[in-house]
Amino acid sequence: MGLIVSSHTRRWPGGCVVWQFHPAMSDAEKATMRQAMDRWQEDDRNVRFLERTTQTSFVEFTPDGDVDNVNRSEVGMVGGRQRLLLEPVNQENNRVRSAQHELGHTLGFHHEQVRCDRDDFVDIDMSKIPLLRFGDYNKQCGDEYRIFGDYDFRSIMHYRPRTTVTTDGSVDITAVDGDDQAVLSAAKRITAGDSAALAKLHGGSAHVYQLSADGQIEKTVRQYIWAPGWTTVTPFRVGPLNFLFRIRAFDGRMHVVRLNLDGSVGETIDNRDWSSDWTSATTYAIGPLNYLYLYKRGNATRHLNRINADGTIGPQAVDSAPIEDGWTSIRHYAIGVNNFLIYANADSGAIRIRRIDWDGSEGEPIQTLSGSAGWTSVEPYIAGGQRYLLLLNSATGALQIQSILDDGRLGTVQDTRDVGAGWSTGQPYRVAGNTYVLLYNQTTGSLRIRRLRANGTLGATTDRRSFSPGWGIAKRYVVGLGTYVVMVDPSP
Ligand SMILES: [Zn+2]
Repeated sequence: MGLIVSSHTRRWPGGCVVWQFHPAMSDAEKATMRQAMDRWQEDDRNVRFLERTTQTSFVEFTPDGDVDNVNRSEVGMVGGRQRLLLEPVNQENNRVRSAQHELGHTLGFHHEQVRCDRDDFVDIDMSKIPLLRFGDYNKQCGDEYRIFGDYDFRSIMHYRPRTTVTTDGSVDITAVDGDDQAVLSAAKRITAGDSAALAKLHGGSAHVYQLSADGQIEKTVRQYIWAPGWTTVTPFRVGPLNFLFRIRAFDGRMHVVRLNLDGSVGETIDNRDWSSDWTSATTYAIGPLNYLYLYKRGNATRHLNRINADGTIGPQAVDSAPIEDGWTSIRHYAIGVNNFLIYANADSGAIRIRRIDWDGSEGEPIQTLSGSAGWTSVEPYIAGGQRYLLLLNSATGALQIQSILDDGRLGTVQDTRDVGAGWSTGQPYRVAGNTYVLLYNQTTGSLRIRRLRANGTLGATTDRRSFSPGWGIAKRYVVGLGTYVVMVDPSP
């Protein structure tokens, strides 16, 4: 069914291939490429082709100047500009199939006939293959090549038998079993197997992407198949070490996992069964001590646990006196030595800010606002040395940026606008002195990265992608020199 590139960094983030036409492409060649892209995404949710706007990594569809009758493409996403070379299109040969095949390479497919197990299915006499074409026929068994599914004679990535390649004019590929010869010789197409391999290329329930200093998704770090149903995911740091806390609301299973220096997710260092229905988790440091603050929206239970120096979760730090019910978002921010928790209730519209006491527990409220727009997401951030709060209402599409004053209270509204319903995630982050927000629409799969200006207003769009829908959680973290975002599908 497919031979795909193993390296995650070669995969197009979110399965979204960013492309542009070379100016020298003819209208017929453009039409060919468009048809080929349409065919790949026809009944496939795992790939999107998006015409380039500002992205720095993209494939440029380019007319091939030479006349060797060979189209070319890189395998997978290389980073920066890469080319797909298409031989001239004319009336005798519209090359839609060739274009589909080359796009297969661009997506991350190798040739089906170079699979390590191909000798069981086809005969190829390598002594008759000219050196220049060796790479198209030579069996590949290395780690960079991942076999997926059964051998697929019909795959768009399998060559049809030809007599034009070999040094003596003989047929280059024959079926081991004569019964397979007809299907080997038949026209190739994007098969169900190719689509399944494509799903494998871009699948998983948790993806980690690296974010670039110019406000783009730079590359895929890893794709994971996690056990389903992680409803709360929170990165945290203890000294020089980085971790991810995750918990499932439905059964209370909790994990702490290490975050590796390349941004990938490492070993699980804490793994326990807690009670179910935790809906919020946030972490913070008070002096040298680290805390995990957990909250159950259903009955207002909250726990405050110490986090040990090795990242595991310690015992409860203070009595778990219940606080008010109904908070849907809880976030922390620090101003100097003072720490604050901000609570938002998406249903009632209430917002409350409490100072955190020296023992890590929440103190008396310092500000309570009512009648706000029912923010589903509240995220504090810093831009240009100023503190702000980014508020998002996924139901109405309202986005607001409000300043945070030096005493921890909310100040003036700096920006307010309608970004359209469905934007469920507004995750601010900072790279190389610039601040951005990653916006994701869980319903449509649209993803945008926009600048956040020092004056607290929303700036230019620096990246846009079409992801698959359903990534309910997006959390950014910094490890070493890299800034990363982990996107998680929380569905059970
Ligand atoms: Zn090829």
